[in-house]
Amino acid sequence: MGKIISIFNQKGGVGKTTSAINLASYIAQMGYKVLLIDIDPQGNTTSGLGIEKDDLEYSMYDVIIENAKEENFEVVKDAIVNTVVENLYILPSRVELAGAEIEITYNEYREKILKRAIKSIKNDYDYIFIDCPPSLGLLTINALTAADSVLIPIQCEFYALEGVGQLMNTINLVKKNLNPDLKIQGVIMSMFDGRTNLSIEVVEEVKKYFKGKVYTTIIPRNIKLAEAPSHGLPIMLYDKNSTGAKAYKELAEEFIELERDEQNG
Ligand code: ADP
Ligand code: MG
Repeated sequence: MGKIISIFNQKGGVGKTTSAINLASYIAQMGYKVLLIDIDPQGNTTSGLGIEKDDLEYSMYDVIIENAKEENFEVVKDAIVNTVVENLYILPSRVELAGAEIEITYNEYREKILKRAIKSIKNDYDYIFIDCPPSLGLLTINALTAADSVLIPIQCEFYALEGVGQLMNTINLVKKNLNPDLKIQGVIMSMFDGRTNLSIEVVEEVKKYFKGKVYTTIIPRNIKLAEAPSHGLPIMLYDKNSTGAKAYKELAEEFIELERDEQNG
């Protein structure tokens, strides 16, 4: 059974895309079949995995627009492309996806288009990760409605918890109206700077807020993680010995371990 996980935080620059690419690629490397859905019109996950956007026949724009009219599984299958990582596939995004968000405003299924679209492929994968845009618009609502759970990256900075109230409100609204079974998968602390007391305090504060949901593995600030996307590579293929690579590998292992514990009750 495929599990759908949305990587969500309406704040930009907190590590959603970096976590999407690198967590997904390490989980794929562990032998799981993984699909990444890039639902951010900026398409940073798409370009970060070296996909040439101009060469694509279809993208998430087509998936959303076609499935807004009627269920169209063919376009979903046709839009999925391979990546440089074995077992890792992507539904890519381009800037035109921003237009789709407007085009579906008055559609009767506007919050459920993605859910309908990926219903038929859900069980072709072990994990499906959705990289959300930094907003609370309809694309994000579609991602939260389609998901089994939410993964929340939080940057280790002074204002880390700012906006978290609004983030939880959004999750609770979606639970109440659209997706009652939506769970919190976990919280990833990103861009940790071990040299400052501030980072340490922020982690403690976030742990208090999200009792038991924060991963033990913390992602350090590491320049290699920022460089890798410009080479179109996940960190494991760009510099597997970097501290950033080791952290995401460890996070993937912790993620899978917790999944196993959950399945075994
Ligand atoms: P979001 O998707 O939430 O907007 P990104 O993952 O794109 O955030 O990260 C924002 C910026 O910070 C990007 O330039 C990215 O390369 C960089 N970045 C993300 N995580 C780290 C990290 N752990 N160390 C250094 N740079 C990072
Ligand atoms: Mg992003």
